[in-house]
Amino acid sequence: MKQHRGRLWQLAGAVLLVLAGCNMPRGNEATAATVDTGGGIPPRPDEPASSPAGQIDFAGELTQGGWIKGRASADVVKVTLDGVELSLAEDGEFFAAFDRDAGAAATLVALGSNGEEITRALSIAPRAWNIEHINAARRPGGATEAFMKLREPELARINAARAIDSGSDGWRQRFVWPVTGRISGRFGSQRIYRGEPGSYHSGIDITTGTSGTTFVAPADGVVILAAQTPFTLEGHLLMIDHGNGLNSAFLHCSQLLVKEGDRVAQGQPIGKIGATGRATGPHLHWGMKWRDARLDPLLFTGPMK
Ligand SMILES: [Zn+2]
Repeated sequence: MKQHRGRLWQLAGAVLLVLAGCNMPRGNEATAATVDTGGGIPPRPDEPASSPAGQIDFAGELTQGGWIKGRASADVVKVTLDGVELSLAEDGEFFAAFDRDAGAAATLVALGSNGEEITRALSIAPRAWNIEHINAARRPGGATEAFMKLREPELARINAARAIDSGSDGWRQRFVWPVTGRISGRFGSQRIYRGEPGSYHSGIDITTGTSGTTFVAPADGVVILAAQTPFTLEGHLLMIDHGNGLNSAFLHCSQLLVKEGDRVAQGQPIGKIGATGRATGPHLHWGMKWRDARLDPLLFTGPMK
C-alpha cells in the first residue's frame, strides 16, 4: 500500500513538473506544491526525519529532446546527472538536457558539503517520433575523396566552435522563436529504408515561403561560428553559444548579420533565411545541442503562436 501511494505521489509530482515548465503564474496552489516537493517527489511522511545535506528544486521538459533547470541550496557542492557532473552556477542554478534517444530513467544527485547526498529519480518520457518506412534501398553512402577534402575543415570548425564556453547566461532564459512561419520539418523524424534507419532530423525547419526573411537570436549568446563562405551541407552556418554547454545552430542562411565573437541579445536580428548548402528550398533549420545531446528547440520555446 505504501509503495502504491509513493507511486501516486511520483505521478502527481511529474504532472506538477510539467505544469511548472509551462510558466504557471506564481503563487497558486500547484506552484507552491511544486516548490514544497523539492523536485516533484514529496518526502513521504514515514521517511526518517534525517536532515538532508541540501535541497534541489527543478522543473523542465522531462522528455526525450527536453531539458531540466534547477537550483541547489548554498551547501550543495556538486550536482551530477547519471554520474556526470553538471556545471553549478554561483547562485546554485544548474542545467541539463536529454538526448533524442535518452533512456526512460535518469538520476540526479546533489552532494552536500557534509558529504550527504540527495538523490532524485527522473522519468524521461519517451516521444512518438515520426518514422517513415520507405520501400527502397538507402542511397549508397561513402563520401568521395573530393567531398571529404572540403568537409573535414568544416567539421573541424564546427567542433572547435562547440568547444567554446562563452560564459553566456542565455541558458537561463525562456527561448523565443527566431522566426515564425510554417514548421516544415520536425525534430527527431526519421526515414527507415527497408529496415535500415537513416539519420534522424536533428533540428526544426521553419519556412516563410521565401528567402531573405530576418531571424533573431532565440536567447542571449555569443557567435561561435559564422560561415561567411558557405559550408557544403549547412551553407552559411551560424552558431550561437548560450553558455553552460548549450548552443544553437542555424543552417542554410542567405545572409549573416553578425560575426564570430559578437555578443547577441535575445530578439536581436542575426541572419536571413535562405537555401544555401544542401537545401531543397528556403527554410531555417534550427538545431540545438547540450554537450553531446541533440535537443528539440520546440521544447525550449513552447508552441508557435
Ligand atoms: Zn532541417
